[in-house]
Amino acid sequence: MKIVCVGRNYAGHVKEMGNVLAHDGPSEPLIFLKPLSSLISSGDEIVLPPQSQEVHYEGEIGVFIGQRLKSVTPQGAIAGIAGLAPANDVTARDLQRKDSQWARAKGFDTFCPVGTPKATTDGLDSLELVTRVNGEVRQQARSSEMIFSIPQILSYISHIMTLEPGDLVLTGTPAGVGRLVSGDRVEVEILGVGRVTNTVRG
Ligand code: MG
Repeated sequence: MKIVCVGRNYAGHVKEMGNVLAHDGPSEPLIFLKPLSSLISSGDEIVLPPQSQEVHYEGEIGVFIGQRLKSVTPQGAIAGIAGLAPANDVTARDLQRKDSQWARAKGFDTFCPVGTPKATTDGLDSLELVTRVNGEVRQQARSSEMIFSIPQILSYISHIMTLEPGDLVLTGTPAGVGRLVSGDRVEVEILGVGRVTNTVRG
């Protein structure tokens, strides 16, 4: 199993990150990996590492792979989806700014909360994503706002590395990312699919 992630996939988030490509977005998906050791479930704690003073939530739509996908078209990728799950691409933003590779900023233990997957591929372009911190809505977006759609992302990745059953793809975060502090309760929900809720420990 592997966790493949897409960065800068919503124009609003590209803009808030101050990226030079703010007006156009990236010309192809930006991908990176999170280690399996970062994976936690709903109800587990997100542990703030001492190396970072600025840990952010990133609510995302997670896609679980059910069938091997190698060099497939976007249309062909849909059959390989086992289900969807809400996910949180927790990021040490200060370390991400320091490093050109994101293994450290994205890879701490507990930095990948993922909810229980729901076996569906319905409405891949009309999913609604909501992130709440202590009950307050911080991110709210539809998958139609993505720069690269879910099928396009899976197709793109499948031309680089084979996607295997059990693999997880995180499809990018919309605008509204922000800091987590000890004691916070962060929840990512895909409406009609499920939610992943975690408390933060400093
Ligand atoms: Mg992300």
